[in-house]
Amino acid sequence: MPEITAATRLVALLGDPVAHSLSPRLQNAAFRAAGVDGVYVALRCDAEEAPTLLRAIARAGGAGNVTVPHKQLAARTIEVPTPAVERTGACNTFWLEGGRIHGDNTDVAGFVAAARALVGPLVGARVLLLGAGGAARAVLCALLDARADSVLVLNRSVARAEELRAAFDPSGRRVQVAADADVLRREGFDLVVNATSLGLHETDPAPVDLRRILRVGAVLDLVYAPGGTPWVRRARELGLTVADGLEMLLHQGAAAFERWWGRPAPTEAMRAALAEARVQLGS
Ligand code: NAP
Repeated sequence: MPEITAATRLVALLGDPVAHSLSPRLQNAAFRAAGVDGVYVALRCDAEEAPTLLRAIARAGGAGNVTVPHKQLAARTIEVPTPAVERTGACNTFWLEGGRIHGDNTDVAGFVAAARALVGPLVGARVLLLGAGGAARAVLCALLDARADSVLVLNRSVARAEELRAAFDPSGRRVQVAADADVLRREGFDLVVNATSLGLHETDPAPVDLRRILRVGAVLDLVYAPGGTPWVRRARELGLTVADGLEMLLHQGAAAFERWWGRPAPTEAMRAALAEARVQLGS
């Protein structure tokens, strides 16, 4: 670790919980590899403290990330949102520029990069999106921008899936909602994405039984867990092309690095840091 001096820039992750986060390992490895004078720390904070902390860190010349459950709050706290923040209503990256606090949602770019690494260009793809929460909003925004042909949303709460569809595609031409998993027997997909929070715990049920789907091109899980999520392990057993949430974590982190430092992210060093973490986590 380079010496921390009075010139060192503070970059902080704000959320609750944050103790499990791999972002400090990912970003401090990136800072070292790029030779930038920064230190990345995780700060657990509640909804009352998060806006105050975000403003104070940015005004002091620092920057940061925001994670669950404060991304929507952060979107209302920053002063200059990117189109990704405006469209998703969520901000996961902030920094000071020209005296104003800017915010981006790099989950959008991170998802696109992870999905492209897995299946190539998304133009014309037919996608099954599991979940309708904050992460699903970023995924849907990214898929529509990347000109995916159509997206079928399946969520435990059908009303929430309908809200998501109405927000992004009121006409229903490109986004449809599945009332239940039975319709999947007749459907084929180039990509199936898990954007639910299922998989963090070993005992979680699968977000969907992949054998109930007519055709699956590839599987992308946004969740990561020690030993891999049970769903990702199952997809591998079925011989499917698959990636877990570490791939998206890498790419959203690389996009955040570029916003903070105005230079390309050292993605190979970041990939190596995550590979090391993966070994230590036992996956
Ligand atoms: P969220 O807004 O709380 O949404 C949670 C989603 O999971 C909702 O669709 C919810 O369905 C569903 N869900 C929760 N418990 C369920 C259950 N028991 N059965 C069926 N569905 C259930 O959370 P989020 O912000 O979207 O995050 C979702 C996951 O994505 C988290 O695990 C997060 O860590 C991960 N993520 C990863 C990255 C990355 O870089 N890898 C980036 C962003 C997020 P209902 O609507 O019916 O409640």
